[in-house]
Amino acid sequence: MPDASSADVRRRMSAQVRSGTAPEMALRRLLHGQGLRYRVDYRFDIQGLRRRRADLAFTRRRVAVFVDGCFWHSCPQHATFPKANRDWWAAKLATNVARDRDTDERLAAEGWAVVRIWEHEDALAAADRVVEALHSHRTMSAHSTP
Ligand SMILES: [Zn+2]
Repeated sequence: MPDASSADVRRRMSAQVRSGTAPEMALRRLLHGQGLRYRVDYRFDIQGLRRRRADLAFTRRRVAVFVDGCFWHSCPQHATFPKANRDWWAAKLATNVARDRDTDERLAAEGWAVVRIWEHEDALAAADRVVEALHSHRTMSAHSTP
């Protein structure tokens, strides 16, 4: 990784750290308030996915929720590359996106529904999407138990 020499890169990274958990916490509060219980920072016991974690996981219903940072996961509305080391960043962020899609496919193959939420999304709308996934995925995962 190039050093964060430019103010541009430093600003993005620190913004990421600051805002990275706030949208997730807002979402967790809303879901918890609806009586929903979930695992946090859940590690999958699936071949090829052991190093990837879901921000939230409803293990019985097999619904995994990822709250993706706009910068690191290249949100279509907010993704831009830092000017310094532009090519390096382009490759790095493309790798992140490819890994996200790979994660989605592997989880789907194991019967998981994946909900991806951008950090910029309204928390209420995000919570609705999770609840919707829990409802629509219920019958499909009826056989699964942990
Ligand atoms: Zn965004």
